[in-house]
Parts: sequence; C-alpha cells; structure tokens
Amino acid sequence: MNIGSPILLIDSNAAAAQGILSELSKQFPETLLHVAHGEQAGFEALQSQPFEVVILDELAPDSGSFEFIRQLKNLDDDPVILMLSEQADPSLINAAYEAGCTRHLVKEGSWQSDLAVVVRQLLRMRRLEQENLRLLSRVLEANVMLEERNKRLDEFCASLAHDIRGPLAAVNMRLDYVLDEASSALDQRQRKTLQNANESLTRLIDMVQAMYEYARLGDKAARMEGLSLQTLMQEVVSDLPLDASLDVEVRIGDLPTAWGNPDLLRKVFLNLVSNAVKYCDKPSIKVEIFCARTTIGTLGAFHEIAVRDNGPGILEVDHHRIFQMFARGENPRGEEGGGIGLAVVQRIVELHYGRVWLESSPGSGSTFMVTVPAEPIRLA
Ligand code: ADP
Repeated sequence: MNIGSPILLIDSNAAAAQGILSELSKQFPETLLHVAHGEQAGFEALQSQPFEVVILDELAPDSGSFEFIRQLKNLDDDPVILMLSEQADPSLINAAYEAGCTRHLVKEGSWQSDLAVVVRQLLRMRRLEQENLRLLSRVLEANVMLEERNKRLDEFCASLAHDIRGPLAAVNMRLDYVLDEASSALDQRQRKTLQNANESLTRLIDMVQAMYEYARLGDKAARMEGLSLQTLMQEVVSDLPLDASLDVEVRIGDLPTAWGNPDLLRKVFLNLVSNAVKYCDKPSIKVEIFCARTTIGTLGAFHEIAVRDNGPGILEVDHHRIFQMFARGENPRGEEGGGIGLAVVQRIVELHYGRVWLESSPGSGSTFMVTVPAEPIRLA
C-alpha cells in the first residue's frame, strides 16, 4: 500500500514540517513524502502530480484557508485531506469539514503516533473509495452493454415478426378465399379442417403482431416527460371498452404527478383496469386506483400505484407466471385472451425502471402494484 500512495504535507513552518516528515518516514519508509511550504506551493505540487493524502498543518483559521480546502477538493484527483491544528476549536473544525476536509487531528498528547494511525486509515479509505469507483464504472459499462444487447435483440424480434407476418397473412387470405369460393367442392369434414387451420393461423398472426409491438416498446420509452397520473387515469377510464350491461365502479384516489411516457403508461393501466373488469366474477364490479406510497431509492423517487379489484383473486403459483408472454391463468369462466397484456405491462414498467407485482389470494380480489418514477431517473 505504500509505494504509489504519495503523501503531501503543506506546512509554512519549516521546523514543524521537518518533525512531521521524520515521524511519517519512520512509519511509512517506502512512501513518497513531499513537503510544500505554503498554500501556493502545495497547490502547484498537486497540479503537477496526484497525491493520495494531503496533510494541512496549522492553516490560518480564516475563510481563505477554507477556500483553499475547497480548491483542493475540486482537483481531478480529489485527495483525502487531514488537517492538523494546535487547538480543538469546534467552529474551525466544523468549517474545515464543511469545506471538504476528511479528518482533523489536534496536536496534543501522543499525536505523532496517532498521526501514523490516522494516515494509514485514510490511505485505506482512499483505496476503498477508488475500488468503489472502479466497480461502479464497471457496473455502468456492463449496463450500457446490456442495454445495447437488449436493443439489438428487440430489433431482431421486431424484424423477424415483421417478416413472418407477411407470408402468414398471405396464407390466411388464400385459406379465406378457398373457404369462400370453393366451399361447395369441400365435404363437411374438409371444410371444418380448413376452418380450424385458418382460426389457428389467425391466432398465430395475432401472436406475431403482439411480438412485433412488444419489441417496439423500447423505442417509445426513450421519450419521457412529466405527467399527471390523475389525468392519465381519467383518460384510461374513459377509454375503457365497457359493456353497458355491466355494473362497474372505478374509483380513482388522489394521484400525484409522475415521469414517464404517457402513451405507454396509459397502456399499462388500461390493461390492468380492463383485466380487473374482465375477470371479475361479482355482479357489482369495483376497481380502486390509488397511490399507496412514495419511496426514495438510488434511482430517485417512485410512486407505488395500486389497482385493486373485487374479483376472484389469483392463485399464488400464478403470481409470477401470468407476467410471462402468452401465459394465462386459471380462468374458469373461459374468458378469451392472448396472455400478452401483463407481459406488456411488465416490460413497460421495467422500461421506466419500475417494478410490478401482485398481492392476491383466491376469494379476496387482486391488487396489482406498479412503481412509476416521480421524477427523472438518476442513473449515475
Ligand atoms: P389475458 O387477459 O389475455 O389472458 P393477461 O396477460 O392480461 O392476458 O393476463 C394473464 C392472466 O392473468 C389472465 O389469463 C388471468 O388468468 C390472470 N389475470 C389478470 N388480471 C387478473 C385479475 N384482475 N383478476 C384475476 N385474474 C387476472
């Protein structure tokens, strides 16, 4: 740890500097020790080579000295700073810490031996800081690579889906033609077989179309803005394709503003509210939308938005599975669907750096929880 961990002592008092240097050279025989007499000389030394630890001995307790500490902290190498003073003046020490000083040591008692211990700690701290920075930059690099790879995979899926859709639609049209024009030449069994084949083909085309749209979601997520969740949710409810014979009540609580792509977030909540209505087994369908709480994490603040229904609930074994593409749950009433809605919900939420999960058990309704950024995401 010694070589390559140079220490700079800035001291305008030559005799004091000599005493400190001889103590340090005993404790750190292999370390490059450099002394600068005065702030100007210290600043120049730091500009000509990086130092891991800077020791400031007896700075004048005035604003100029604290400004000097700030200047040191603004240097690219941002050294750790140890300040030494004869007196333990709390206002001086506080001001030094505020300016960016890392440690302070009062020159009393056996301070010379304490000095070696403190310098050793500071060198270790500096090593850990550098290791953290190195790891952070590797994580950020890996993240960028992963995003690039995901983007290429999306592009591949979108172009594959696009290319498959054409020939499938052509076969679909030809089967329609045969069923319309040559129906009289077919016996009942042949007609039924062709009809079944054509229905399967239509489902396959819908799946390919869904894959195409799923793969294109990332493009839209690049465009995010501030939005009112209250307005967005009112739009969702008015866009809801509702059967007039159904008794449906959708209650919207007070919702905050958020950050995201309005089209994509509308899709998320339209899917969740539509499902709440579609799968409800009660004569009176009740859906509640509310903000459960706002949390602050490393990426910034996120709102937890809940969509709660009074439907049949969902078996624990299905809680993760139903978010997979084309996965469907136990639907005893045989409701139709392609099993795509929740996969799209999850993908959009993840594109907003959020999470979606489910709180539900059979017989007690379901609550889908979605986290939405409250403000622009802080990625680094
Ligand atoms: P789809 O509705 O087309 O099946 P989704 O991905 O939207 O596709 O939903 C997957 C499955 O999750 C559904 O088949 C259903 O079993 C279950 N599900 C979703 N929402 C609810 C809900 N609110 N209540 C009960 N079951 C639900």
